Amino acid sequence: MKPTQVKDDILNLSPDRLIEWLSRYDIRPYRSRQIFKWLYMRQADDFDRMTDLGKSVRELLAEHFYIGRFEKVAEELSADGTRKFLFRMNDGRRIESVLIPEKSHYTLCISTQAGCAQGCRFCRTAHLGFERNLTQSEILQQILQMKIEPDDTKRLTNIVLMGMGEPLANYENVLNALNILTNNEYGLKFAGRRITLSTSGIVPRIYDLGADTAVNLAVSLNAADDRTRNMLMPINRKYNIESLMEVCRNYNLRPHRRITIEYIMIKGINDSVLDAKKLSKLLRPIRAKINLIPFNSHDKSQFERPSQKTIETFQNILIDNHYTVMIRESKGRDISAACGQLQGKTQDRDSIGRA
Ligand code: SAH
Ligand code: SF4
Repeated sequence: MKPTQVKDDILNLSPDRLIEWLSRYDIRPYRSRQIFKWLYMRQADDFDRMTDLGKSVRELLAEHFYIGRFEKVAEELSADGTRKFLFRMNDGRRIESVLIPEKSHYTLCISTQAGCAQGCRFCRTAHLGFERNLTQSEILQQILQMKIEPDDTKRLTNIVLMGMGEPLANYENVLNALNILTNNEYGLKFAGRRITLSTSGIVPRIYDLGADTAVNLAVSLNAADDRTRNMLMPINRKYNIESLMEVCRNYNLRPHRRITIEYIMIKGINDSVLDAKKLSKLLRPIRAKINLIPFNSHDKSQFERPSQKTIETFQNILIDNHYTVMIRESKGRDISAACGQLQGKTQDRDSIGRA
C-alpha cells in the first residue's frame, strides 16, 4: 500500500524553493510568480482557486502541499480601538497579534515565537517560558489573516515585530518571512522602512539583520548600566551594554533613519535623574530616537510604573541633550494587548515559575 503523503505547508517555501520544486515536474519558473500572487496578494486558501494555472498543476500542488491557515480563536477590542487577535496554530498552541489604529493607517504587531526564552524580569511573555519558534508560514499568516478580515484593514501599512518572542532568536524563519513581506514581485510588497524589528540585543544577529534586510531596528535597552540591565534582562550577561552600543554604532543604517531605543521605565529601578544622564551619555555616538515605555503592570510582576512627574523629568533631561524622545503609552492596556503582556492565554496552565 502506498504510504500517505505527508504534505508541506506551501507558505513555508521561498520563491527559489518553489521554482526548484516546479522544475522537477518541468513546470516553468514563471508559474511560481502566479502561485505566490495567489497565496499572498489574493490570500487564496485553496489551490483550486488558482484559475490561471492548468488543472494538472493545481492537482499536483494539492497533492504535495497545503496552504497554512490559523484558526482565529478570539478577538478583543480595546476602548482605544486596538484589536487583539488570538490564533490557534496546527499544534494547538496559541499566539497573539495586535492591530493598532493610527491616524492614517494600521500597524500590526506580530509574534515570532510561542513564549520566549530570554526571561526578562518585567515581561509577561517571559513567564510562559520558551515553547517553540514560529515557522515562516506562521509569521506570515498573522499578516494574511488581517488581509482576510472584511473591514478596512487594507490600510495596514506598518508591521512591528514586537509581539511574543525574540525575533532574532528565530533568525532564519524571521528573515525568510521578511523577504516575502517585502518582495514586490512575489510577496506582500511592504516597504522595509515600514517594518520595525525589536530585539532584546542578540548582538551577532543584529549585524546580520543590517546586512540581510532594510527593516528598522529597535533595541530594548531598558537600562543604562550593566548592573541594572543584568538584573532586568539576562541576555545582558552574554551581550553587555558595550557590545550592544558597538553594534548600534556600526549598524548598517539607511540614510535618514535612526535606531529606536526602547526604555521601559520602572519605578525605583531605572527612572532616576542619574539614569537619564547615563543614558544620554551612552547614546551620544548613536543615531537614535528614544521611546520611553512606562512599565505595564501585570499579575506576574512586582514592578510598578513611575509617576508621571518622574517620567517627564526623565524625558526632559534627554530632550535637553537633544534627543527625540517619545513617551509611548502602550495601547490596548485594558485588553492586555500592551507590550509585554502577550501570553497567548494558552493551554490553561499557570506560569511554570520561570523568571
Ligand atoms: N523580544 C523583543 C520583542 C518583543 S518585546 C524585545 O524584547 O525587544 C517588545 C517590547 O515590549 C520590548 O521593548 C520590551 O522591553 C517591552 N515590554 C516587555 N514587557 C513590558 C512591560 N511589562 N511593560 C512595558 N513594556 C514591556
Ligand atoms: Fe522575550 Fe522581549 Fe519579553 Fe524579553 S522583553 S522576555 S526578549 S519578549
